[in-house]
Amino acid sequence: MPKIYLVDVTNRDGVQTSRICLSKLQKTIINTYLDKLGVSQSEFGFPFTNHEINYLNANLELVELGAMKNIKLSGWLRAITQDVEAAFRNVPKLKHMNLSISTSEQMIKNKFQGKLDYKDVLRSMEKSVRLARSMGAETIGVNAEDASRTDMNFLVEFARAAKDVGADRVRYCDTLGYDSPFSIHDRIKEVAEKVKIDLEVHCHNDLGMATGNSIAGAKAALDAGVNVYINTCLNGIGERAGNADLVSVILAVKHAQGIAGKYRLEKVKLNTAWRMCKYASYALGIPIPINQPGIGANAFAHESGIHADGALKDRRNYELYDFRDLGRGEPEKIDTGRQITVGEYSGIKGFRNVYDRLSVQFKDEAEAGEVLELVRYANVHNQKPLVEEELRFIAQYPEIARKIFTMQPGGGE
Ligand SMILES: [Zn+2]
Repeated sequence: MPKIYLVDVTNRDGVQTSRICLSKLQKTIINTYLDKLGVSQSEFGFPFTNHEINYLNANLELVELGAMKNIKLSGWLRAITQDVEAAFRNVPKLKHMNLSISTSEQMIKNKFQGKLDYKDVLRSMEKSVRLARSMGAETIGVNAEDASRTDMNFLVEFARAAKDVGADRVRYCDTLGYDSPFSIHDRIKEVAEKVKIDLEVHCHNDLGMATGNSIAGAKAALDAGVNVYINTCLNGIGERAGNADLVSVILAVKHAQGIAGKYRLEKVKLNTAWRMCKYASYALGIPIPINQPGIGANAFAHESGIHADGALKDRRNYELYDFRDLGRGEPEKIDTGRQITVGEYSGIKGFRNVYDRLSVQFKDEAEAGEVLELVRYANVHNQKPLVEEELRFIAQYPEIARKIFTMQPGGGE
C-alpha cells in the first residue's frame, strides 16, 4: 500500500523567501527538530551556493554522528549539469537531491526567452539526472516548476522521460498556488496513472489552498498506487503567501474526513511540534498567528458560553484533536528576577552559571573555555539571544558548530 511521506522545505523554499532569513545554526537546529518529529526528508539548502557549503557538509556529518537518526538531507539544484558538478564538488557526501526546471509554456517562452525550448528542457533534465546518478546520487527527484500551468501532455512526457532516465520521483510544483483541490487531484491522477512514478506535491498558498491542494494531490497519487511526498514548511512560510504548513498537513492526514484512517502516513510524532514551531517562530522573527492550526494561541481556546460549556463537558464537542498530541499543556517558566545570560561578550563565570542551569557539565576548564568561545561566535552569528536548544547543541557538537560558523566569501571553506 503506498504511503505519504513528508519533505520539509523550510531550509530551502522558506529561506529563499523575501524578508525571511535563518542563520546556519538555526537551519541546523530546524533539521534536528524535523528529524525528531519523524519527517523523512529535509531539503536543507543549495549546494551550489558558497555560503551554504560548510553548513551543508557539517549537517551531513551530524547524520554520520547519529545526531540525526532517520532524516535524509537533500539539496536543491537546477537541472543543469553545472549545478550537479558544483554540488558534488562542494558537498561530496551529498546523496539526495532534487533537480528543478520549468516546464510551462509561460516560463519556457517568457523566462527562458528562446534559450530553451520543450526539447531542451527534457534534454537538460535527462543529462543532469544521468550525471547525478553517475556521481553517486541515491535519491533523485525531478521538479517540474510551474507544473500546474504546464500542458498535460508535456507534463506526462516530462514525467515519463524522468522515469526512463532513472529518476526516483517527480515533483509537481504548483509554483504560483494556481491549483484548486479539484484541478490538482485530476492532474496528479493523470500523471500517476500514466507514468506510475512516485510523486511529490509542492503547493503554494496564494489562493489560501496550499494544505487542501496538498491533501487532494496526495489522495490522487495514492489512489493511483504510487507513493507521495508532500512538501511543507514550518509555520507555513515560503515564497510570497507561503507553502503548505507542516503541522496542518499532518493534522489533516490524521484527522480529516475521508482521509484519516484511510491512507498511511510515515511515522511522525507530533509531541515536539509545539516546541519546534515556537523555535522556528523565534528564529525567523515571525510571530505565530493566533489562529494557526494546532499551534496558534487560540487553537484550543474557548470563550463564548455555548463553546466553553461544550468543551468543558467533552473536548470532542469543539475540538478535533487534543492539545497534548502537539506537546502543549506544560506550563512555561519565566524568570522574573536576576538573570545571567550568555552572548558575544560573555566571560567564563556567567557562561558557567548558564550551563549549570542546563545541567551541562564540562570535563575541564579548557573544554569550557572552548565552548564559551563558540557560544560568543554563535551569538555574533545569530544576532539574537541564544536559546536552550542552541546552547545544548554547541556544547554537544563543538567541532560541528565551529564549522557552521565558519564562512569565507568566495571560497566557502
Ligand atoms: Zn516553492
